[in-house]
This record gives sequence, structure tokens and C-alpha cells, in this order.
Amino acid sequence: MNLLGNFINGEQLASESKRNGAVYNPATGEHILNVSLSTAAETKAAISVAQTAFESWSKVTPLNRARVMFNFKALVETHIDELAEMITLEHGKVLSDAKGELTRGIEVVEFACGIPHLLKGEHSLNVGRGVDSFSLMQPLGVCAGISPFNFPVMVPMWMFPIAIASGNSFIMKPSEKDPSVIMRIAQLLKEAGLPDGVFNIVNGDKESVDVLLEDKRIQAVSFVGSTPIAEYIYSTGSKYGKRVQALGGAKNHMLVMPDAKVEQVTSALMGAAYGSAGERCMAISVAVCVGDETADNLINNIKSEVEKMRVGPGSGLAEEAHMGPLISKVHAEKVRGYIDCGVEEGADLLIDGREFSVKDHENGYFVGPTLFDNVKPGMRIYNEEIFGPVLSVVRVKSYQEAIDLINSHEFGNGTSIFTQDGDSARQFCEQIQVGMVGVNIPIPVPMAFHSFGGWKRSVFGPLNVHGNDGVRFYTKMKTVTARWPKGDQTTSNAFSMPTMK
Ligand code: NAD
Repeated sequence: MNLLGNFINGEQLASESKRNGAVYNPATGEHILNVSLSTAAETKAAISVAQTAFESWSKVTPLNRARVMFNFKALVETHIDELAEMITLEHGKVLSDAKGELTRGIEVVEFACGIPHLLKGEHSLNVGRGVDSFSLMQPLGVCAGISPFNFPVMVPMWMFPIAIASGNSFIMKPSEKDPSVIMRIAQLLKEAGLPDGVFNIVNGDKESVDVLLEDKRIQAVSFVGSTPIAEYIYSTGSKYGKRVQALGGAKNHMLVMPDAKVEQVTSALMGAAYGSAGERCMAISVAVCVGDETADNLINNIKSEVEKMRVGPGSGLAEEAHMGPLISKVHAEKVRGYIDCGVEEGADLLIDGREFSVKDHENGYFVGPTLFDNVKPGMRIYNEEIFGPVLSVVRVKSYQEAIDLINSHEFGNGTSIFTQDGDSARQFCEQIQVGMVGVNIPIPVPMAFHSFGGWKRSVFGPLNVHGNDGVRFYTKMKTVTARWPKGDQTTSNAFSMPTMK
């Protein structure tokens, strides 16, 4: 069985750790790889490498750092099929979805290519007589990223392209469930011209994460994962004096108004609830229907659409599946357990995915699309994040009841409203206590040049990922106020077109 180690100082290295994690193909249940769970000493050694690399990388001009990002973007595009296959093999999502993830990651690299512009900062002439004021946006040093299993490339790409383009060095701690693809990304960064030691990968678990949180040389930590771990990362990292952004779990509601077009809502909801087997932090897991007629019509449509769904392995089929397996056997059992719980709590189970199996893939971690009606606050299937293909319908009588319901939930990552009425949509955007809002858009994931992040217990820390927040997170602003005495004003002649080196 192959054993995946680390990527340090531009090289793939075996780990000395005696502890390993097992990686499975979720579509077949086959054990395909082991990954080393690095020791604290190895993690510290990686920090030393990144610290040394920072000294020279931070002095490379933003223009030349951007050029590495341009090369990297082109390489990821050239290798998109290979990378998507790697994602599908270990994560299970269907190939077109894996390519979608890569495309959203590439968009952050494109944003990072604009770093010379993004680091311009502020400038005021004559804040006093003959006195100017301007800001320097300087890199922090060694930054760390800790990512979840559900986007093994896109989430790391929310982090390292902006960190590196801003002049920092980086240590990535990927999910131990699907660690291979980010190793290939590290090779492509090297091929793009990134100096050794600027981007490093330490595979591991809590042991290595705790070093990243405690070691004084780490200046900033970006985390994406479940809420309990996000809270731990935020409080521990902050205690050790670091900048921390920690994005957590979600329970995303779609508000369906009586005037919404039911066909439009259904097609939006099918992908948002069941795409990627519901393992997206922006998946819609609750449809809040205003009025019984709205709920009945929507449910009828969903039932007939679910019958047409193809569930199967993420690649290798003549016609691609709509939805693949869940990440692990343990997680599939957890999702089935939530469905049991919903039945016990008194919700109406209309479509049951518990006994679902796929021909020739009987050992795969499949749970079929599941639909509950008459779900109520207080039930565990409403309160908690299931992270599987389970959609709950909650019936309310009015728009205001829906707003109160959504605003009372502990999570506030994403939400959307489906309506024909501009006034309802406008009020919704203003009143809703959620970080990312869609109007007739089911999964309102902001583009790379805007920032991504939820509210309430879906996020810890003031700055979100990518967009302007991302640049602010990975830089320290220094403000200079300067007065110059009159000096030598002669210059030497330059005859050729001046260019920046
Ligand atoms: P997870 O919290 O189990 O793991 C995330 C990372 O934390 C992994 O790298 C893991 O190795 C590490 N980790 C796990 N336990 C740890 C511990 N005790 N101490 C230190 N580190 C630890 O999350 P997951 O199951 O990989 O991913 C799914 C979760 O991520 C869901 O809750 C989902 O909503 C969330 N998520 C959120 C967003 C967002 O933008 N808000 C995006 C993607 C995923």
C-alpha cells in the first residue's frame, strides 16, 4: 500500500511518523492509500523551512510573484482532467463537479494575479503642508491553512494563492481523507516557478494542527471545517497571538414564496440539495415554504425529479451520475442515523435513502436522496448539520415567520429566496442574518473578487476568505506619514523604454 508523505522545501518527502490514516475510494469502499500523520517535530521542521523561504520570497516584487501565479493558473488549466480524476477517486464527487471545484479555485488564482494592484494601499498627498501619507501592505511571514475533505482543492485555493502572492510563505495541512490532489498542486506550483519552501504540505491530524496553532513563527491561520473544530482553532490560535479566520458548518435555508415559479425552484433545489451528495457547506438542506400549497407543489415536483436522478460512481459511467457517494462509511452511517432520528422525532419521511445501493458498487458509501416534510425547529434533523443528501421541508404561514425561523438558527452561512416580487427580495436581503444571500440563486457562493464567509456560528474571526478581506487577512498595513526637505533634483538620462524588473 502506498504511503503519502509531505511536501517540504520543494520535495515530496517520506514522513517519519509511525501513525497513518487510511484513504478510501468512496465509490467502491476500497482502501487505496495510506497517508502519514506527521509528528510535531516534522511540523516544526516544515515551519523552519517556510521561515527561511519567507526571507527571500517576501522581497520578490509583487509583479514577479503575480507572474508565478499566472504560470500556475495555466498549469492547473492544462492538468484539469488529471486533477479532477484525483478528486473524484478520493472524494467521490462526480467528475463535472470536481472540474467545477477546480474552476472556482482557478478564479482565486486569477484574483491573486492582480496582486500588484491589490497591494497599492492608500495614498494621500498633503495631509499637512508638504507632508504625504501612504500605506504599505506588507506580508505577515509564515501562514498556515487547514482544510476540510469536501473541497480538497478549492478550499486550499481560497487560502494559499492570495497568501503567497502577498509575499508570505505557506504550510498547508489538508484533510487526511483525500490528500493526494493537493500534492499534485504543490508540484504544479514548483513547475510554475515558485521557489522551494514557499509552499509546503504537512499531512496530519490534531498533532500537527496544534503545532501550527502554538508555534510563534506562524503568523496567521486559515481554517475551514466543522464548527466545533473552527471554534477550537479560533480560540487556540488567538490565545497564541495569531490572526485567525475559521469558517465552520452550516444549515442553509431556501425561502420559497407563494409567487415563486415552482419549476424554477425545483430545478434550483435539486442541485443545491443533492449535488455533491449534500456535502457542501453551501448546500441547501432546508426548504422553507410559505403556505401549504407552495409546499405541496414543490414536494410533488421534487418527488418526480428524484425518481429521474442517477446516483453512482463519480466517473466511469457512460452517462455521468448526478450524485456520488459520501466520503466514508462512518459518515454514511451518521447520515442514515440522522434519517432514523428524523422519523423518531415525528417528521414525515417522503423519500428514504437509507437502504440505497448501487449495482456493482455495493460496498460504496452511497445514501440515496432523502426528503422529509413537516420538519420543525427543535428536531435534530433541523437544528444540526447533516452534510448528506437529506432535504427538509419546513412549512410556515407567512414571510415574517420564515425570516424569524432562519434568523433564529445558530448557523448563518448561506441562504436564498425564490420569488417574483422585488420588494420581498429586497426586504429579505436587508433583514436576513446570514452572510451570503441569493435572490433566485440557490447557492450564492461569491466570486473570488468578493469575499466568502458566513455569520453567527458559521464563522469565527472578522475577516472572510478571498476578495478584499483575503488580501487584508494576509497583509499587515503600515501607514507612513512623510515630510521631505528639499534635496538633489538631478536625474540621469534614460533612453530606452523604462520597464519594471
Ligand atoms: P473537520 O472539522 O472534521 O476537519 C477539518 C480539518 O480539521 C481537517 O484538516 C482535519 O484534519 C482537522 N481536524 C479535525 N479534527 C481536529 C481536531 N480535533 N483538532 C485539530 N484539527 C482537527 O471537517 P470535515 O469533516 O473535513 O469537513 C466538513 C465540514 O466542513 C462541514 O461542517 C462543512 O460545513 C464545513 N465546511 C465549511 C465551509 C465554509 O466555508 N464555511 C466550507 C467547506 C466545508
